Amino acid sequence: MIRIAVLGGGISGLSLAYYLKKRAKVTVFEKEHVGGMIGTRAGGRFFFERGPRTFSSSRCDELLQLIEELNLSNDLIYAKPQKRYIYYRKKLRSVQKMALRGLIRGGFKDFYTKPEKGEKTVHAFAKERFGSWVADHIMDGVTLGIHAGPSKDLSLDACFPSLANAEGSLILKALKGTKGSLFTLEGGMHQLIEALKEQCTIVEKNITSLKLDADLIYSTLPAYEMEKLTGDARFSKVRYSGITTVQLGYAHDVLKHKGFGYLVPSCYNLDIMGVVFDSCVFPQQNREDGQTRLTVMLRAMDRTQAVECVLKAVKEHLGINEWPLEVHTWHYEKAIPQMGLGHQKLIEALERDHPNIVLAGSYVSGPAVNACIRQARGLAEQFANASSERLCALR
Ligand SMILES: Cc1cc2nc3c(=O)[nH]c(=O)nc-3n(C[C@H](O)[C@H](O)[C@H](O)COP(=O)(O)OP(=O)(O)OC[C@H]3O[C@@H](n4cnc5c(N)ncnc54)[C@H](O)[C@@H]3O)c2cc1C
Repeated sequence: MIRIAVLGGGISGLSLAYYLKKRAKVTVFEKEHVGGMIGTRAGGRFFFERGPRTFSSSRCDELLQLIEELNLSNDLIYAKPQKRYIYYRKKLRSVQKMALRGLIRGGFKDFYTKPEKGEKTVHAFAKERFGSWVADHIMDGVTLGIHAGPSKDLSLDACFPSLANAEGSLILKALKGTKGSLFTLEGGMHQLIEALKEQCTIVEKNITSLKLDADLIYSTLPAYEMEKLTGDARFSKVRYSGITTVQLGYAHDVLKHKGFGYLVPSCYNLDIMGVVFDSCVFPQQNREDGQTRLTVMLRAMDRTQAVECVLKAVKEHLGINEWPLEVHTWHYEKAIPQMGLGHQKLIEALERDHPNIVLAGSYVSGPAVNACIRQARGLAEQFANASSERLCALR
């Protein structure tokens, strides 16, 4: 059997190993935390996810299928439809109301604008199609929520390829709301990691060289790690945004606004990017009835400073004056790859110039967990379809 080394034991690496293992002998190399950014906090009075927590059923076919294959479907829980908010002039406004306002303030362009050809930033696209107000206040918030970076820095083609080619009014589509509901696993996303761990051979090792005893190497390591391994400085062109999260647990209901949470557009220059009302989205995960659990996402900063900043913000934005019973912080110096202009061409060039290693991971697929799994499945299908002569040549 062909021996494959998969570098990195996050969701990209584990799902890849899972799909490849039907046809090859696969070993995953992980340096510190199997699951990478995915993890669920064990114990305590409050349930908290460390990383990803919500997935939309209309956009996560591959994740749902993987959950089914791993016999975890009975643990799926779904959220009721949730109101979403955007921070605007020191208040929370519903996305629906903001979209209506956007229609009045330039959004009608959406019905007749023929987009100019060529790669552009998400902000430039939104400005061209809906005007500056929507670009600054709505689209930027959406981009922050998914990519943790301002829309002026990100490529539309790389981050939202479906928008680049979409026909008809996007504002009308937004007003109708998205189909599908949010889901997660009741015991937390670590359930998915535990189930994948059982299926994979994992070796704890910090990879410092590509000289490995394997016929084929797939790397799901972040781009900055690939720079160290290959010496190719072009990997460092992929920048990463840093995230610090602060999680607050209250024994009872302290939220006046109910819903998914809110986003803070970057034009306000606040350290906070957004807040998820975890206990509203999935009350099934509350360890005691009536709890409030909040996750606040900030630009990377010192943990003590982050807690102070968050306590001040929840007071000002949400009117919460109480001290939380539990506070947890997480810090990711380099969390989400920022897919800027020229990103896709850069990846194509790196793939072409490193033919001995298959490049994967979130800077190639995009940061959504489902995109990582979709990429893994695609690579495993490619492997299965590769001609036997080509695979023999690899030995
Ligand atoms: C706070 C937060 C919230 C998020 N929320 C969501 C969400 O709700 N929905 C969603 O879809 N996505 C979300 N994401 C994004 C998503 O979690 C990530 O994009 C995804 O998990 C990335 O997976 P990965 O396997 O590509 O990378 P990683 O999880 O980073 O895995 C890479 C692995 O490689 C290992 N590694 C690095 N260097 C070496 C080395 N030299 N040798 C061996 N191993 C090495 C690392 O230890 C790590 O385990 C969130 C991310 C964060 C930070």
